[in-house]
Amino acid sequence: MTGRWAPSPTGEFHLGNLRTALLAWLFARSENTKLLWRFEDLDGAVRNDFYDSQIRDFQRIGLNWDGEIFHQSERLGLYQDGIEDLVQQGLTYRCWCTRREIREAALAPHSHLPEGAYSGKCRRLTAKEISENERSGRNPALRLISEGQLIRIQDRQLGDFEGAVDDFVLCRGDQTPSYNLTVAIDDADMGVTEVVRGDDLLPSTPRQVHLFHLFGAQPPRYAHVPLVLAQSGDRLAKRDGAVTIDDRVALGESELDVLNHLLSSLQLPNIESVDELEQVIRHFRPSALPTSPWIFDL
Ligand code: GLU
Repeated sequence: MTGRWAPSPTGEFHLGNLRTALLAWLFARSENTKLLWRFEDLDGAVRNDFYDSQIRDFQRIGLNWDGEIFHQSERLGLYQDGIEDLVQQGLTYRCWCTRREIREAALAPHSHLPEGAYSGKCRRLTAKEISENERSGRNPALRLISEGQLIRIQDRQLGDFEGAVDDFVLCRGDQTPSYNLTVAIDDADMGVTEVVRGDDLLPSTPRQVHLFHLFGAQPPRYAHVPLVLAQSGDRLAKRDGAVTIDDRVALGESELDVLNHLLSSLQLPNIESVDELEQVIRHFRPSALPTSPWIFDL
């Protein structure tokens, strides 16, 4: 079995990221599953120093991974092949909508599609409208024709979940392949069988599973885990106080203290040294994990 940790190097890890990392590690190490590391570094906000800081912080709390580190930025040919496959299957169309047009169209209720789903406007363009758009010089995004396909998943933590797939973007106008496309291609290509990640990504999962089906691949099992929230109820962020390992160390805590905070939040026993993390594995039961978010109060 193969799992993965797939951070975007767009910031230093905070306790929310590290808690999800710890969970990905615990799931993998308790089930004899390999844990791959994949940097999702196609986003414009990527910064060089965050690759190193993320790897370092992962290791500072005793986590490890298996094998070489993958970079999405080095795998563009693979994503291009995947896009070509979908084009050949006749499942794509070009979309010239601006962000604003997408937002405005998405306000109207669209049957069973998720909130904010794309309305499918550019799929219904006339030949005349298409040639006008082509002449505009704007680069179109490429979208998937999904026909609002319903996808059901059995999440290991959250149970049965069903979602409709919208005509999501496969490739942006600036030629960057989309998050959903690259994740599905990578998970399939790397033989990932176990995905453990934050439950904010649950709504994207039907899109990714749908792509697996279109590529004729077997989707992984999913475990979506609760996030860490700030007192305000929003997802934890850098502005919420001492939330990185460096911030905690500046307050006089050790890396072990940080790890023990995370273990306590998961109702797992504390340990005496970061090197003893393996001892926690036998106490780890996915079914005993808290089901609600951890409200950060340190
Ligand atoms: N790169 C995504 C993130 O940093 C995670 C993607 C995934 O686990 O599927 O939030």
